[in-house]
Amino acid sequence: MRIDIITLFPDMFRGPFGEGLMQRARERELITIRLHDLRAFSEDKHGKVDDFPYGGGAGMVLKPEPVARALEALRRPEARIILLTPQGAPLTQKRVNALSLEQHLILLCGRYKGIDERIRRRFVPDEISIGDYVLMGGELPAMVLTEAVVRVIPGVLGDSESALEDSFQQVLLDCPWYTRPEEFEGMRVPKVLREGDHAKTKAWRQQESEQRTRQRRPDLWEQFLAEKEA
Ligand code: SAM
Repeated sequence: MRIDIITLFPDMFRGPFGEGLMQRARERELITIRLHDLRAFSEDKHGKVDDFPYGGGAGMVLKPEPVARALEALRRPEARIILLTPQGAPLTQKRVNALSLEQHLILLCGRYKGIDERIRRRFVPDEISIGDYVLMGGELPAMVLTEAVVRVIPGVLGDSESALEDSFQQVLLDCPWYTRPEEFEGMRVPKVLREGDHAKTKAWRQQESEQRTRQRRPDLWEQFLAEKEA
C-alpha cells in the first residue's frame, strides 16, 4: 500500500513515522509513505496557500488551487482521496480494516478554518473524523488513521501482537491482561489464567470482554447482541 499525505507541516510526521513498528513496516516495504508539502504546489512566489474567507470572519481558508494541483499530481486511478475533517464519518475499526485493503490512499490535512469547499465538490473525497472535537490541523488525524491502517496490514504485527484479538475487532472490548509477577501489592492473577487450561482461559476472556463491554460501552453491547442474533 502507498499513502501520500498532503500537509503544510510534513516535519510533524517524521517522529511518529520514524519509530517502532511503523518504521519497521516502512523498512520492510510493507507500506510506502510519502509526505508532500502543500506549499510546493503554490504558484505564488512566497508559497502562499491561504487567504481570507469570503463574507468575512476570523481565520484563513486554504486556497483551492494548490490543493487541486497536489491532488492532480498524486492521484492514480485506484487512489482513494481522504479529507480529514471533524465533519467526516467517524474513524472506526471497521473503517480502518476496509481502508487497509486499498492500494493507494491520499490523505488531505486541513488547517485554519479548513479547505475551500470547492475541493470537496471537485474531488468528492471520503471525509473522515477522528472524534467530536476540533484540532488545529489534519496532521494528527492523518497520523492516527495511518497508524491504525498500517497496524492491520498483514505482516506488520508479529503473531504475538495479533490485531485480531484487540478491542473492536469482534465488536467487544478486549479482556484484561496480566503478566508476572503472580502477586502484585496483594493482588493475585486470576486463578483460571494460572492453571494452563486453554478452553477455560478462552471462556474466561470471552466472559470478561462481554462484561466490560456491557458496563463501559452499552452502544457496542447492543451492536454485539444484534450481530449475534442476525
Ligand atoms: N472549521 C472546521 C469545522 O469546524 O468543521 C474546523 C477546522 S480545524 C480548526 C482545521 C483542520 O483540522 C480541519 O480542516 C481538519 O483537517 C483538521 N481537523 C480538526 N479536527 C479534526 C477531527 N476531529 N478529525 C479530523 N480532522 C480534524
